[in-house]
Amino acid sequence: MKIYDVIIVGAGFAGSVMANQYANDNKKVLLIEKKNHIGGNAYDYLDDNGVLVHEYGPHLFHTNIKEVVDYLSKYTSFYPYEHRVRGLINNVFVPIPFNLSSIEELFDKEKADYLKEELIKEYGMEKKVPILELRKSENTDIKELAEFIFEKVFKYYTMKQWDYSIEELSNQVSDRVPVFVSYDDRYFQDTYQMMPKEGFTKMFEKILDNPNIDIKLNTELKDVLKFDFENSKIYFENEAFEGKVIYTGLVDELLDYKYGKLEYRSLWFEKKQLDGEYQSVTTCNYPTPKEEHPFTRISEYKHIMENKPQASTIHIEYPYAYDANNEKGNIPYYPVFVKENVERYEKYKKELAKFDNLILLGRLAEFKYYNMDAIVKAALDKYKEIKD
Ligand code: FAD
Ligand code: UDP
Repeated sequence: MKIYDVIIVGAGFAGSVMANQYANDNKKVLLIEKKNHIGGNAYDYLDDNGVLVHEYGPHLFHTNIKEVVDYLSKYTSFYPYEHRVRGLINNVFVPIPFNLSSIEELFDKEKADYLKEELIKEYGMEKKVPILELRKSENTDIKELAEFIFEKVFKYYTMKQWDYSIEELSNQVSDRVPVFVSYDDRYFQDTYQMMPKEGFTKMFEKILDNPNIDIKLNTELKDVLKFDFENSKIYFENEAFEGKVIYTGLVDELLDYKYGKLEYRSLWFEKKQLDGEYQSVTTCNYPTPKEEHPFTRISEYKHIMENKPQASTIHIEYPYAYDANNEKGNIPYYPVFVKENVERYEKYKKELAKFDNLILLGRLAEFKYYNMDAIVKAALDKYKEIKD
């Protein structure tokens, strides 16, 4: 029997960064992944159109954390890329996050000048104001603008994406895309905005390229590990496994839905290949009612690429409730941040804390809206904590 120091479930950012750190410290790692590839949701591949397609939706790297950039730079070089998004409002594609240019594109000059002036007076230039805060303004003109933005940008998009209203969801959802009192039309303002030169998958291959790491693809946790919940022991090849087990999957699945199902949102992508260019920016949002557009956004991948091919591949993004048996919704993408789920998650977490060698890490296992940089940072921090 091969002796492993650690068994890691899931080869996304959380699992791969952990595997890399253990292996660099000369520990033997078994990394198991149920999909047929590494990289988790960040997986990308070159399609027959010459386009680097992000299988699970566009992944743009942006961060203020230099430690994360330094770490990843050991495994890839980067090229600069700044993400821009336009949203369809009153039949015009305007900058999203909604900003001063969006106002100019939607209102006549006199009204636009007035609204911009009021916003700048109230909040100051370069200020980000979450929509729920803007709606609380006591200035009646700003309040009216806030209701317009709420209706045209957030209300229907959020219903389509989450099947909940914005008020029911944790503020962390809408706070990601605040109204921006600025002419800066980039989606993110982070210090570092760039993409790995050869794509994310190639970067993952380098992160995992270490003789101390054995990778088993197409392998489910239950093919390899048995959990004894009564005695809080984990078995590997019929023997109690004393090393650490890092789990980056669903916690409700692990405990056979003991406290009920946790809710996740899934996506289904309609893929189209075409010649030339479909739209002017990488992503166009459709914050319109479901009856008008049943999808939330369209992404055109060639805009992300350093060397753009003539041909193009687009993804039209349709949200679905996650259900392992759904043909179009069988991958859990987003934890659904409503109160009942967060409380339910805590029960699972408490139960799993009884295993003293089990670590929950990542977007699914921690039920957190992690961006890529944040999960890399969390994995770097977690490893330091374990080592200490
Ligand atoms: P995952 O990538 O989900 O990896 C978990 C892995 O575990 C998966 O490969 C899964 O198959 C495997 N697994 C689960 N259960 C089991 C099991 N029982 N047995 C075996 N294997 C198992 N972040 C950004 O910074 N910028 C972006 O632009 C961005 N865009 C995004 C767009 C979309 C549509 C989505 C959904 C996310 C986006 N993110 C973005 C977030 C990013 O995808 C996550 O931060 C990152 O993927 C989290 O990594 P993870 O390892 O926690 O999870
Ligand atoms: N959102 C919206 N309209 C938009 C863009 C975003 O209502 O045009 C809301 C929606 O609830 C979405 C959330 O803001 O789920 C976060 O948006 P983000 O673009 O960060 O979503 P992600 O890229 O994580 O899917």
